[in-house]
Amino acid sequence: MQPVQDAVAYFAGYDKAMTMLPTYAMLEEKARTLGFLKVGLLPVEHITIARDGLAQWLGLGYHGEMQWMADHLDKRLDPGSLMPDTKSILCVALNYYPGAVAANQLKVARYAQGDDYHHVLKDKLKALLQWLQAFDDTIAGRPLVDSAPIMEKTLAVQAGIGWQGKHSNIITPEAGSWVFLGELLLNITFPDAPTPIPVRNFCGSCTRCITACPTQAITEPYVVDATRCISYWTIEYKGDTIPQPIAENMAGWIFGCDICQEVCPWNVKRQQPTQEPAFLPRPWNKAPRPEEILAISPERFKTRYRKSPVKRAKIHGLQRNVTAALQYQKPQSAPQDTK
Ligand code: SF4
Ligand code: SF4
Repeated sequence: MQPVQDAVAYFAGYDKAMTMLPTYAMLEEKARTLGFLKVGLLPVEHITIARDGLAQWLGLGYHGEMQWMADHLDKRLDPGSLMPDTKSILCVALNYYPGAVAANQLKVARYAQGDDYHHVLKDKLKALLQWLQAFDDTIAGRPLVDSAPIMEKTLAVQAGIGWQGKHSNIITPEAGSWVFLGELLLNITFPDAPTPIPVRNFCGSCTRCITACPTQAITEPYVVDATRCISYWTIEYKGDTIPQPIAENMAGWIFGCDICQEVCPWNVKRQQPTQEPAFLPRPWNKAPRPEEILAISPERFKTRYRKSPVKRAKIHGLQRNVTAALQYQKPQSAPQDTK
């Protein structure tokens, strides 16, 4: 190639690189217009994931039947390996707080009252990726929402999304812990992106979540034994009968459990209604009626729980949960939040 042609080719590439890529500030702005509460960019070289905590948790069998938690440990420790040429991971949080749970006889966890977050969050991450690709079609990305072995809470902490509370959920200073997490793996990074600063842990001497857990599933600060957690038994467990020590403490929770989050002072202070219409409660999840669930037909179940997290329990699991919750129903208590 002639020197002049070389220069033209060089500057054509230079121009594209320098003028076509958005800044990180533009990316943040776009993410906010898509509804994300928080975003943080982690260059892969900034990521550190300790093997010990996870290995110890798995070694104690705290994952129960969730074998997928133990699989692909190497990938969990090296999230950059989940896509070729990963340079950075954009971590996001989306507020889903749908409001108070009434003192119903039966209750569904807030995260599951509306549409399935997997679809909602992934669509938003795909939209963000497409927006980037409109600037430069060589940008590659992989949106993740529980769809790959990744330590999303560790990454969220390192990306400055929030801190990990003693109940193990991520707490954002802006809206508490009622947030979904997602990640977008990218083959680029942004020179203007600030170095991520982890949020300070504000749990302090508080132990409300530990004390409030009716099954003592939070065995020590930041460690949850899933095999004692109502969420695990009502969502992940596939067997026929909920063990009595769990069932007699279900307090009406038939899919998930919000007790440790309801009592957290950061939620009491900071929770704010979601702006995402898809997360608004479906009536049968806001006030589940036992007689309806116990008599529901497969066709009705399929229609009613289409694109709902509750579908995961299947009819058998949901009816099992209702039966267990009713068996040991205690007098109703008042709702623990007021918004
Ligand atoms: S979700 Fe419920 S059972 Fe599980 S740790 Fe929290 S309070 Fe305990
Ligand atoms: S209840 Fe207290 S200890 Fe538990 S996560 Fe909230 S602030 Fe931390």
